[in-house]
Amino acid sequence: MEITVVGGGYVGLVTSACFANLGHTVRIIEIDSHKVEQINKGIPPIFEEGLEEILTRTIGKNLTAQSDYKSIENSDVFFICVGTPPQEDGSANLCYLAQAAESIGAAIQGTKKYQVITVKSTVPPGTTESVVLPAVLNASGRIRETIGFCMNPEFLREGKAIEDFQNPDRIVIGGDSQDAISTVKKVYEGVPGPVIITSLPAAEMIKYASNAFLAMKISFSNEIGNICKKLGIHVYEVMNGVGYDHRINPHFLNAGLGFGGSCFPKDVMALIRLAERNNEEPVLLSSVIEVNEKQPDRIVSLLKERISTINNKRIAILGLAFKDNTDDVRDSRAIPVIRSLLNEGADIVAYDPMATDSMKRYYPDLQYVKSAGNALKGADACLILTEWPEFKELESEFDTMKSRVIIEGRRILSIEGVEGVCW
Ligand code: NAD
Repeated sequence: MEITVVGGGYVGLVTSACFANLGHTVRIIEIDSHKVEQINKGIPPIFEEGLEEILTRTIGKNLTAQSDYKSIENSDVFFICVGTPPQEDGSANLCYLAQAAESIGAAIQGTKKYQVITVKSTVPPGTTESVVLPAVLNASGRIRETIGFCMNPEFLREGKAIEDFQNPDRIVIGGDSQDAISTVKKVYEGVPGPVIITSLPAAEMIKYASNAFLAMKISFSNEIGNICKKLGIHVYEVMNGVGYDHRINPHFLNAGLGFGGSCFPKDVMALIRLAERNNEEPVLLSSVIEVNEKQPDRIVSLLKERISTINNKRIAILGLAFKDNTDDVRDSRAIPVIRSLLNEGADIVAYDPMATDSMKRYYPDLQYVKSAGNALKGADACLILTEWPEFKELESEFDTMKSRVIIEGRRILSIEGVEGVCW
C-alpha cells in the first residue's frame, strides 16, 4: 500500500521503517529538514535498536523522507504521528495535530480515490472527530464519504520499539466506518497479535487508560517501597512476591525514582485535565502524579542524610536518560534531581552512555564525562539515576571515590554497600 506518515520522530520514524519493512511504500513528511536529511542518508536521528538496519535496507527504495506535503495525494493511508506535548496547564496541545491534518487535507484536494486518515499520536478522546476530521474536510473540500478516519494508538516502548512493532500485545483500531478500519487492518497484515476494533474515542481512551494504569503500578510500587524502607523491609523482595499473582503480573513493579519520558507524565496529566473539564475529580490519577513528583526529592534528602551537606561536594551522576537503551531525557527523573543538587551547591559530574547530548539542552554547563569511571574518580557520593546494564559491571571504579556513598534511584548494581531510594 502507499502510506504517508506525518512526523518523523520516535513514533513516526519507527512506524515508517516497520511499514516499509512489511513491503509498503512509505513517505515520511517531517518539517525538520535536518531530520529529513539524516533519514534519507539512512542515519536514524534517534537511537533505537534495529532501526538503522531496517533504514539502511529500505531508504531510497520503498522509504523516503521529505519536508513538504508534495506528491502524497495518491496515498491510501495517512498516519499522523506528530507530538501532542503538554500545555502549561497539563492538557494536550493539539496545534501540531491540527496543522498536520490541514496540510494533509490541502494535499489531497483534487484526489478522487477513497483515502484513510489515521491518528497515531496520543490524543484526548474525541480529538479525531472534533479536530482532525473537520480540518481535513475543510482543507480538502471533499465530501465526507470519500475519506475514512481512524485512530490507531501507539504502544511502543522506547528502546524496544522495533520489537514492540513486530510483536505487539494488540493492535487497536478505532474507526468511523468498516471501510476505514479494513484499510488500516490491511496495513498491518503480517504483524501477529490480536486486532481490537473500537469506536474512535474508545481507541483514544485506551491509550490514556493504558498509560495511566502503568504509571499507577509504578507509583504504587514506589509508595510501598517508601513504607518498606521505613520498616526495614526490602521492597524488591516484596514486589517479587506480589508479581507472582497472575492478576497483577510482575511488570512495572520496580520501585525507584518514578516514571519519566515523553508519555507517562504528560498523558496522566492530560487525562486529569480531561476529567476535571468534565466535572470529575480524578483522585487516584492525581495521587499517581503526586507520588511520582516526590520520589526525586527523596534521593536528594537521603544523600543529605548520608553526607550532611551537599554544598561544594563532588556528586557523580550515573544515568541521565529517562530509562536505559534510549537517548531520550524528556521528563527524565534526572532533571529534577540535578536541579535540586545544583540548588544545594553541588559540583556535579555526569555520565550517560547515550543521553549526554540530549541533557546538554537542559543543563549545558554541567561537567559531562565519557565513562562512569571518570565520573566516580574523587566523588564524595554517587547517584544512579538510570538502569543502564553497563552499570552492573562497575566494581573497582567505586574504590576511586573519595567517600563510598552510593545511592541507587534504579536498582542495577550488584555490589555490596549500596542503598536504594526506597530499599
Ligand atoms: P517527536 O517529537 O519525537 O516527533 C514528532 C515529530 O513531528 C517531530 O519530529 C516534529 O518535527 C514533527 N512534526 C510536527 N509537526 C509537523 C507537521 N505539521 N508536519 C510534519 N511533521 C511535523 O514525538 P514522538 O515521541 O514520536 O510522539 C509522537 C506522538 O506519539 C505523541 O502524541 C506521543 O504522545 C505519542 N507516543 C509516543 C511514544 C514514545 O515512546 N515516544 C509512544 C507512544 C505514543
